[in-house]
Amino acid sequence: MKDIEVSVGRTGRVTPFAVLEPVVVAGSTVSMATLHNQDQVKAKDVRPGDLVIVRKAGDVIPEVVSAVPEPGRRRKPPWKFPTACPACDSALVRVGDESDTYCVNPACPAQLLAQMVHFASRGALDIEGLGEQRVGQLLAEGLVRDVADLFSLQVSDLSSLEGLGELSATSLVSAIQGAKAMPLNRLLVALGIRHVGPVAARELANAFRTYAALEAATLDELSVVVGVGPVIAASVYEYVRDEENRLRAQRFAATAWPSPSPRSSRRSPRHSRIVPSSSRDRSRVLARRRRRGDRRAWRHVAWFGVEEDVLRGRG
Ligand SMILES: [Zn+2]
Repeated sequence: MKDIEVSVGRTGRVTPFAVLEPVVVAGSTVSMATLHNQDQVKAKDVRPGDLVIVRKAGDVIPEVVSAVPEPGRRRKPPWKFPTACPACDSALVRVGDESDTYCVNPACPAQLLAQMVHFASRGALDIEGLGEQRVGQLLAEGLVRDVADLFSLQVSDLSSLEGLGELSATSLVSAIQGAKAMPLNRLLVALGIRHVGPVAARELANAFRTYAALEAATLDELSVVVGVGPVIAASVYEYVRDEENRLRAQRFAATAWPSPSPRSSRRSPRHSRIVPSSSRDRSRVLARRRRRGDRRAWRHVAWFGVEEDVLRGRG
């Protein structure tokens, strides 16, 4: 192991990892392995320069298991966890007896990068051509500061990016615009709301259909959704009410999504999906939909509109 460094994730969690002499582990060459957190580094007493055992945790992420004693070799002093974020220099925070350490600066560039990469990743909005390197360029050039900025990017904005020809710029812009057709559940995953995984996102999308309805939901309405326990409900409730997230949603609605089309009079009443404004009636309607297994209805609904009338059967 050559050294220990830290990376900053999209939630601000700071994870120590080992920089290795390249080594073949379970069939592939690895040069980095996770050390999980500060306590693990301490418990395993691994130090830069040590000979270490590496394995693939869950066959995917390589991790350092332990140091191998080398009698007679003088070891380096124990590694110290940084006190400031390597990306933005703010003081790192460790809460209570949790083993994780966080950068809590919302403007931290490392967090923004990780959030944006997650936003575009396969399980989220699956935006082809928007990987870590490209996102890094967009941030460095000041073309985006937030995921909501992605949707205002024009082909001409991207011409300054190194290694991106007109053709690739055009396909990137169209891939970003294409993400708008993704269902609400994928957007909820993409936003990286704490505790909201693919399953909860699907249930929430089924129950509420639009982001606007989710924003308006009470804690009780969120909690009664199948598969959404009190922890997830509280997390979503808090997320949609957060000032910054509210502003982002408004920007999404303004720059990213066309205004909802006016309700057509040709449509028969049974196709109407108006959700009553009184919260008791609303819960009842939502519960009824769930019982009916109204699973397709949320598809292709513009995320931030009020178009509760978009329904299955149409497209
Ligand atoms: Zn930071």
